[in-house]
Amino acid sequence: QARRLEGVDKNIWVEFVKLAATYSTVNLGQGFPDFPPPDFLKEEFTRAFSGEKHMLHQYTRAFGHPPLVKILAQLFGKLLGRDLDPMTNVMVTVGAYQALFCCFQAFVDEGDEVIIIEPFFDCYEPMVKMAGGTPVFIPLRPVNGKLMSSADWKLDPAELASKFSERTKAIVLNSPNNPLGKVFSREELELIADLCVKHDALCISDEVYEWLVYDGKEHIRIASLRGMWDRTVSIGSAGKTFSVTGWKVGWTVGPNRLLQHIRTVHQNSVYHCATAAQVRQLPFERYGKPDSYFVQLPKEMQQKRDQLVQSLVAVGMKPIVPEGTYFLVADISEFKSDVPDVPNSDEPYDSRFAKWMVKNKGLAAIPLSAFYCGPHKNNYNSFIRFCFAKEEATLKAADDILQKWK
Ligand code: PMP
Ligand code: GLN
Repeated sequence: QARRLEGVDKNIWVEFVKLAATYSTVNLGQGFPDFPPPDFLKEEFTRAFSGEKHMLHQYTRAFGHPPLVKILAQLFGKLLGRDLDPMTNVMVTVGAYQALFCCFQAFVDEGDEVIIIEPFFDCYEPMVKMAGGTPVFIPLRPVNGKLMSSADWKLDPAELASKFSERTKAIVLNSPNNPLGKVFSREELELIADLCVKHDALCISDEVYEWLVYDGKEHIRIASLRGMWDRTVSIGSAGKTFSVTGWKVGWTVGPNRLLQHIRTVHQNSVYHCATAAQVRQLPFERYGKPDSYFVQLPKEMQQKRDQLVQSLVAVGMKPIVPEGTYFLVADISEFKSDVPDVPNSDEPYDSRFAKWMVKNKGLAAIPLSAFYCGPHKNNYNSFIRFCFAKEEATLKAADDILQKWK
């Protein structure tokens, strides 16, 4: 085994996907929609494969199928207020996962530090380590002790500033954040941006939930802030955007000075993302129209969020209402009598609770400790994360389990 694999062998998804498959009747664990993708997407996909388009079965351009990078450059050009070159400012990846992997491989050397905001999407830590870097963690902390909204989880500005040094290569930003659903405010993003500029650090901005923002909140792209375009790689996912997580299509957008190195990693690893998944399916031209998918999607998701909030409140599992994403973290403290604590156990309490819940109640969720680094896994260990990107019937079945519980 290569040294770079030491300590990165465990994976929460491998473990919980298996548990959910074995025991769950209602799966609100791993984040994927159980409803079909929008009709226009299925139609575009079918159309692309009918007729003479057999070239879709062959290799395409390494850095993205030309019609797709063109449309991505148009859209993100508009959103970021600058002309983007489809060939050099955009690259298509095998999901946002591979985009992240390429970034760490492209920029992180032995001894470099990468700042990660906790709780964080779990793969950042092993990916930084595999590149030889050292993750440096900064927590979001609940303010005022109240845990009602993801907006109540904040960075301490002085603490954040103290994490930056001459060793800092990059900070990973994930807004809207998985697992909390926090949508970073302009003020918070400006704080991060100013520190990046001051310390000449890069920003790896994971924006896979960019379209899933609720209650009229705005998703602000850090690459659009002063001094940030040149030092930011923005990452997106068609899987999350169009409810097709299995297609594994993602992208990076950024300046050529950074993307050129991401292309080097990509061409020497996977070479390109499946052509068939890159059909010019993304109906971005509809963006900005009032009836567009990008308006409908968050509206529907917000209703699902509110439905799950109601189910949880009714039984005393206190939700942290997310401002974005399709996840909701809930406090399980009042359910502790069902799963007694084992003092000094190696396994965080929430993990044992989530395992017990799937085995005994048939309801799958993910422990919040999965989104913390090893030494911090017990900092907030009485929360679990539910995914609410689910059909009405699934949410109803989850509600039935919860209401019968107490
Ligand atoms: N980043 C975050 C925050 C995610 O939640 C996910 C979901 N798996 C990814 C990246 C990876 O996205 P993809 O499925 O496009 O690889
Ligand atoms: N992003 C999804 C989640 O957080 C799926 C992660 C995965 O399957 N690796 O649940």
